[in-house]
Amino acid sequence: EEAYLEVTDLQVRFPTADGVVQAVDGLTYSLPLGRTLAIVGESGSGKSVSSMAVMGLHDRKSTFMSGSIKIGGREIIGMSEQELNTVRGVEAAMIFQDPQSSMHPYFTVGDQIMESYRQHNKVSKKAAKTRAVEMLDRVGIPNPQRRVDQYPHEFSGGMRQRAMIAMALVNDPKLLIADEPTTALDVTVQAQILDLIADLQRDFGSAVVFITHDLGVVAEIADDILVMYAGNAVEHGPVEKILGTPLHPYAWGLLESIPAVSGTPGPLHPIPGAPPSLLAMPSGCAFHPRCEFRERVPGDMCRTLRPELIARTADTGRASRCHLKDPDRVFETEVLPRLP
Ligand code: SF4
Ligand code: MG
Repeated sequence: EEAYLEVTDLQVRFPTADGVVQAVDGLTYSLPLGRTLAIVGESGSGKSVSSMAVMGLHDRKSTFMSGSIKIGGREIIGMSEQELNTVRGVEAAMIFQDPQSSMHPYFTVGDQIMESYRQHNKVSKKAAKTRAVEMLDRVGIPNPQRRVDQYPHEFSGGMRQRAMIAMALVNDPKLLIADEPTTALDVTVQAQILDLIADLQRDFGSAVVFITHDLGVVAEIADDILVMYAGNAVEHGPVEKILGTPLHPYAWGLLESIPAVSGTPGPLHPIPGAPPSLLAMPSGCAFHPRCEFRERVPGDMCRTLRPELIARTADTGRASRCHLKDPDRVFETEVLPRLP
């Protein structure tokens, strides 16, 4: 399958009062149309920053970026704001965790959807309004004829998130990036929004990047998973493979710490320690200070040599960044102390 989104060796750095933060460190992945990729990781793993970069939404003055980001074959890095505007909303759109902060409180929901539509289509106000009503209807908002003239504060949280999705999709973008779009919502509404995104993805055949820290959500919605740690991908592959037999100790740890994935409550086994400071990355494997398996790797390799993201040829479509040999067998046989 041909990639619609292609990220190659992406580096994102920005200065802070404490020093230069290496937020993304050589990230490479690609995504064809018609597939949903979940990017999973703790906060600070680079999942949001890398996705903002894909949309050209980073602060241009203070961010250093290198590598390549291609959407539909067009290079995003180095594009002018004007060129980016022909990509954003049309080729690619993003929805965020908090629709309150991304919708303007002083304009009606309809006006905001219409504005987004008319930016890229030469149509009358009337036609744009018809389109806005149609979109609200499409995302499951009841009484769209009436709702279209209401303000964001008149919508519930779940309805606002639906309206945001309507706004993001009004120009039929082929790539949708959703950054924790359901985190602020209650469980029922969360499930409805996930269903909606899955439906839209099917109907429009778009590529979806779904950013989350919730592996339960991943199991619901994704075809593939990219697990990020300390600014880079540590494991990438089909969802059922990774949730079944992860290859990277961090991915394995994530699964062990979240009983909800299997649907059965079990003993929690949290990953010890905390993610590294992006101001001072550990040597070698960025995960080594927290890794329970580093003793299994000969010599001092984990501490001294940075592993590459390597395709596991026996297992098509899977790649992981770890020196450990036969990790699946190791995880299976390893008996680790459990918390009570
Ligand atoms: Fe653990 Fe070593 Fe693999 Fe890093 S390279 S995840 S420290 S086993
Ligand atoms: Mg985030």
